[in-house]
Amino acid sequence: MGKIPIGISTCLLGENVRYNGGHALDRFLRDTLGKYVEYVPVCPEVECGFGIPRETFRLMGDPKQPRLVISLTGVDHTDRMEAWARKRVDELQNDDLCGFIFKSDSPSSGMERVKVYDDKGVPRKIGVGVFARVFMEHFPLTPVEEDGRLNDPLLRENFIERIFTYRRYREVMEEKKDVGHFVEFHTRHKLLLMAHSPKHLKQMGNLVAHTKQLSIKEFITQYEKLLMEAMSLKPSTTKHANVLHHIMGYFKKDLSAGEKQELLEVVDEYRKGLIPLIVPVTLMNHYVRKYDEAYLKEQVYLNPHPLELQLRNHV
Ligand code: SF4
Repeated sequence: MGKIPIGISTCLLGENVRYNGGHALDRFLRDTLGKYVEYVPVCPEVECGFGIPRETFRLMGDPKQPRLVISLTGVDHTDRMEAWARKRVDELQNDDLCGFIFKSDSPSSGMERVKVYDDKGVPRKIGVGVFARVFMEHFPLTPVEEDGRLNDPLLRENFIERIFTYRRYREVMEEKKDVGHFVEFHTRHKLLLMAHSPKHLKQMGNLVAHTKQLSIKEFITQYEKLLMEAMSLKPSTTKHANVLHHIMGYFKKDLSAGEKQELLEVVDEYRKGLIPLIVPVTLMNHYVRKYDEAYLKEQVYLNPHPLELQLRNHV
């Protein structure tokens, strides 16, 4: 897999594009995740023609349709920013983005809980930045996150798992849009989907089983929607423990009594929060190799993203 194209608010990469000429560098995003993704930077305020430095913006009015105004003067730039944003998302269509990382709290780039001021100047954290809203409306299935939320290990792992999954899905789409490729993709992702949403896994299984009743276009539309909906649901410790027990079922006949006991204990310790997910998963991978278990060897769940990111060391 080559580098994954991901959109990002430009200031998070350390570029001096903020209103005060500063940046909001996130070293994990630039230096660590940056080894695996190709960033497509977007700074709405600079690209829309406002200079550096510039006056600050704020959202005002109806939280559902707030106006983007200059904080000090109240001059309204909503229409200008929305027109630019619509043009920019059209251009981004060509970049095949598998995700977008937004700068939190920004009236242009913030994904959620951006301050919206009422006519008395009282803020409520219920808004969405103008560009972020246009982007999410245009690409409803594309995984999105904010820099601040990515400090949470669970949200970070979930987001990165989603972008890697979306990329693998896109690769299947690029190769050949035939049902056989989707069935293979679905089979490899079964355990991963089980960890995110057993309900979606069941619905997707039904869909894959009835491909003959749909055109390939209808199938793709429904499958992609279910896939990205499922992946947006966070796995819980209980769901992971269920998947791990399910994996153990494949070794039932191979494991000695001592090995079985050890595996059960490790999964239980994970379930109780005493050890991170990486421990039982590493042990499972050891048995997959030892017993050359063909179905499990192909399961993305056991290796969903590069080990170097250490995402499962903290969940
Ligand atoms: S938050 Fe958005 S608009 Fe503000 S500097 Fe960063 S990229 Fe530009």
